[in-house]
Amino acid sequence: MTAQGNNLDPWYHHYADRTANLSASEVRALFAVASRPEVVSLAGGMPFVSALPQDRVGDTLDRVMRERGSVALQYGSGQGDPRLREQILEVMALEGIRGSADDVVVTTGSQHALELITKLFINPGDVVIAEGPSYVTAMVVFRSFQAQIEHADMDEFGLIPEALRRKIASLKADGKRIKFLYTIPTFSNPAGVTLTWERRLEILEICRSNDILVLEDNPYGLLYFDAPPPHALRSVDEDGVVYLGTFSKTLAPGFRVGWALAPHAIREKLILANEAAVLSPSSFSQLVISDYLATTDWKGQIDTFRGVYRERRDAMLQALDDYLPDLSWTVPNGGFYVWLTLPDRLDSKAMLPRAVTELVAYTPGTAFYADGSGKNKIRLSFCYPTPDFIREGIRRLTKVVNGELEL
Ligand code: PMP
Repeated sequence: MTAQGNNLDPWYHHYADRTANLSASEVRALFAVASRPEVVSLAGGMPFVSALPQDRVGDTLDRVMRERGSVALQYGSGQGDPRLREQILEVMALEGIRGSADDVVVTTGSQHALELITKLFINPGDVVIAEGPSYVTAMVVFRSFQAQIEHADMDEFGLIPEALRRKIASLKADGKRIKFLYTIPTFSNPAGVTLTWERRLEILEICRSNDILVLEDNPYGLLYFDAPPPHALRSVDEDGVVYLGTFSKTLAPGFRVGWALAPHAIREKLILANEAAVLSPSSFSQLVISDYLATTDWKGQIDTFRGVYRERRDAMLQALDDYLPDLSWTVPNGGFYVWLTLPDRLDSKAMLPRAVTELVAYTPGTAFYADGSGKNKIRLSFCYPTPDFIREGIRRLTKVVNGELEL
């Protein structure tokens, strides 16, 4: 692998090999255009923070400064605030997880937990198995540690156990070292699908018998619209699963507070890695969240979020039914995303500049695969625009798709 850069950059020859994949995509440049207010963006995954009682959050900030200002403004524990770690146990209990606050490590968003776990486990050339499609910025992390990313197929019921089994067997036959399975089992990003309970058990068994750690990333599990989803993988297996959670979707991403619940054997190294990276996660954010959880009806607030996102999901599904009845898409029971399949011969990335001209943006499917698949797929986010804008966005998208089909 060679270092990446361009010859306008005087440091071009100095970058580490691991930066080879750290380049801004063309899609990113288009998104800058797509952030204009006249564009309906179905592209990003921004939570709708306006649904929060922002004055209550303001009261919390004031109280923390008045009552615990000298703690909030100071460095804290590298593992995270002890009271918040206890409260995190209550949050996880809603998904069937029982654990000890000793095994919770607070991180700077779950994104940073992904980075720390990857740093702990991946040598260049090691394999990470991920669903195909998978979360784009997790794959950026895996690549930045020079992991080889291998996809196992999923369908509307999540990762397919038989596909995982086959993938593991063929990688082992090639002499590869598989370090972990990265999975978003509930309301996945980008596919919007949920792994069934039976498959959860089967996948845990496959990983256990092949000595593969499971990295369970669960930012959306509490944002269900209908019945609650099956319990987390971590609720079944304490020793083989690192579980990642976050306050980004149930409260607000601006705090940058997430966590890992790690098997006891791993957590010590994880704390050391956290300290090496950030000394301590933000004391200020942690104390504010801790106070918010102690003084606010946070479960009621999550219900409010569910209502907002359910209405938007319904608006998107209705618009797809009305405007694009010949296409197929996933039907999410929670989370932020619908995964749309275009006719085979369309290329969603090539189509994006035209979509932006028509004032609608989305994320092309290829972003979510490490191997260039997903050309005719699109991720549509319904989390941020209002229902009317969602409908208008799908109307504009329809015009673009129909225009491409006529070419
Ligand atoms: N994992 C997944 C699947 C996500 O969708 C996101 C946010 N888009 C993250 C992790 C990172 O979230 P945060 O760092 O805000 O906790």
